[in-house]
Amino acid sequence: MTNVAASQARVLIFGQTGQVARALAKIAGPAWVFAGRDQADLSKPATIETVFASGEWDAVINAAAHTAVDQAESEQDLVMAINASAPALMAKLCAAKNIPFIHISTDYVFDGSKTSPYVEADAICPVSTYGRSKAQGEKDIIAAGGRPVILRTSWVYAPEGKNFIHTMIRLSEREELKVVDDQKGAPTAAADIADAIKQILNKMLSDSSATTGIFHLSGGGETTWHGFASEIFAYMKARRIKTPARVLAIPSSDYPTPAKRPLNSLMDNSKLEKAYGVKLPLWKDSVCACLNDIYQSQTMKKAV
Ligand code: NDP
Repeated sequence: MTNVAASQARVLIFGQTGQVARALAKIAGPAWVFAGRDQADLSKPATIETVFASGEWDAVINAAAHTAVDQAESEQDLVMAINASAPALMAKLCAAKNIPFIHISTDYVFDGSKTSPYVEADAICPVSTYGRSKAQGEKDIIAAGGRPVILRTSWVYAPEGKNFIHTMIRLSEREELKVVDDQKGAPTAAADIADAIKQILNKMLSDSSATTGIFHLSGGGETTWHGFASEIFAYMKARRIKTPARVLAIPSSDYPTPAKRPLNSLMDNSKLEKAYGVKLPLWKDSVCACLNDIYQSQTMKKAV
């Protein structure tokens, strides 16, 4: 089926419980099918093939990945299987049917040494196992041919799931908090990624010559983890919710982690805007919307 709106299309999504998968579920059409780990375990290729063969699809989205960046350092084979071999297989299956395949990648394919925002043409040089696995996934997807769109995003958060916002809320009872201030990037809401995917899918389904390849997709503007934390606490303070008395800015060297992170995660998003007309809101606006969601649902739970 071609020339169909994304909301009417038969879309297979790998991933069910993750931040982006859940955001996609909120805007899904009636024929969108979400395959979680129970149906398709990405470390087991046969399960991917079985799920793919279970229907006729207009498009496939991969929203699942091994995202535990530090844990990945001690699970290299598993990470490669999930983040590189699995999406490569999905890309091959989609290419054979000539249907769009949308995959999500990461700013961690870069080493962060550039002083300005990264563009898609910049050389990649991952500095962690997770980054290397995602970079390999990108290469293998492109090599599979067909109609892939790979969206590199950064610092993803959502009202549900494990993310920086929930970590800050959990730690807000403390009197003092130290947060890294020398890593630059752009927080990106899972809801904004989902909206962007739907917009991209609409174009890909109506125009078989729509541009394919790698695109950057991150929230507008820039900050550091310390700036991100400060924004969350400013929101909470304005609503008289307890926050730490002191939020200290520290260098990454004072917060060692098993996996190295890029110091500069900023990405230039203009290629995607030009090709698909997609531009994400300013990161502060989306963080505020997410916090509204979190605190509204908490208020509703208390009221019940
Ligand atoms: P989450 O960490 O929220 O969720 C990961 C999902 O992948 C979960 O649904 C998990 O399922 C699933 N998964 C993990 N291993 C397997 C497996 N073996 N088989 C099947 N499913 C599996 O991810 P996000 O929504 O945050 O990330 C979406 C995409 O964005 C990923 O490609 C990620 O690499 C990329 N990205 C994420 C960033 C971030 O900050 N989170 C930053 C940049 C890019 P289960 O619940 O069963 O474990």
